Amino acid sequence: MRGIAGLPVVDHHCHLSPAGDGARAAERFRAAGGTHLFVATQNYEPAVPTDVDGYRRQFEVTERLAREVREATGVQTYLVVAPYPIDLLRASETLGLAGGLDLQQRALDLAGRWVRERRAVALGEVGWPHFPLDAPVAAAAQAAFGHALEVARDVGCPAVVHSPDLDAEGWRQLEEAGRRCGLAPDRIVKHYARARRDPTGAAGAVPSYLARRDLVRAVLHDPGPWFLETDFLDDPARPGAVLDLATIPRRAAAIAAQGAGEAERLAVPFVRSVEQVYGFRPEVPGA
Ligand SMILES: [Zn+2]
Repeated sequence: MRGIAGLPVVDHHCHLSPAGDGARAAERFRAAGGTHLFVATQNYEPAVPTDVDGYRRQFEVTERLAREVREATGVQTYLVVAPYPIDLLRASETLGLAGGLDLQQRALDLAGRWVRERRAVALGEVGWPHFPLDAPVAAAAQAAFGHALEVARDVGCPAVVHSPDLDAEGWRQLEEAGRRCGLAPDRIVKHYARARRDPTGAAGAVPSYLARRDLVRAVLHDPGPWFLETDFLDDPARPGAVLDLATIPRRAAAIAAQGAGEAERLAVPFVRSVEQVYGFRPEVPGA
């Protein structure tokens, strides 16, 4: 475990799969200087879960993969669990819309218990599909998201949001949804943020930026909180998508090479934002 410039190197959102590279992908991350991974659950089977037990088994696979990564590489892992918002659509084909919504809510309750038991650090991905929906389905998706925010509030953890790209009004609505249920804006993280959010508003929901080179450069001097992520999918059909797991340590090393002032900026996504949003501090042993 080495980190970069004395700092931990954190990928705030990735997935691992038993069918993919798993711990080998984490080895690429570690070899490039990476130290901490937030691992979000995903479907590992062709069909979406149709009962809570299906989600329990899914979360257990994520937990096992994260443990394998820690044991094989020494990379620290944090679990993020929730029923994927888009599962609602396919589950509703067999359960009906009301049954699909009920399953989302009960699986969110399960995810909340995992946070309470400290098996997970956040709910994610929660939110709503990134494509247009019929009105009744859109309403059910928003009801599921509302429940996710309530669970996050009750267990005291962040909600990691999957949604369409947000404009200024979209960010404002997201923050408003949190406030309505008593969840502070800095407990709401928009994952897969693909454009810089104007930081002048401050005290808003938190972008987790896709770590493309130009975007990292554009946001580096913004005040936190903000994160960097690859949204690595570990899907053998899409190798290296969305970005490879080695991306963030490589970007961090390139920034650190520009001098101490630039390197210091990396403390925003890798240390201070984690502390503010999650309430713990990633440490590099021996640094
Ligand atoms: Zn994801």
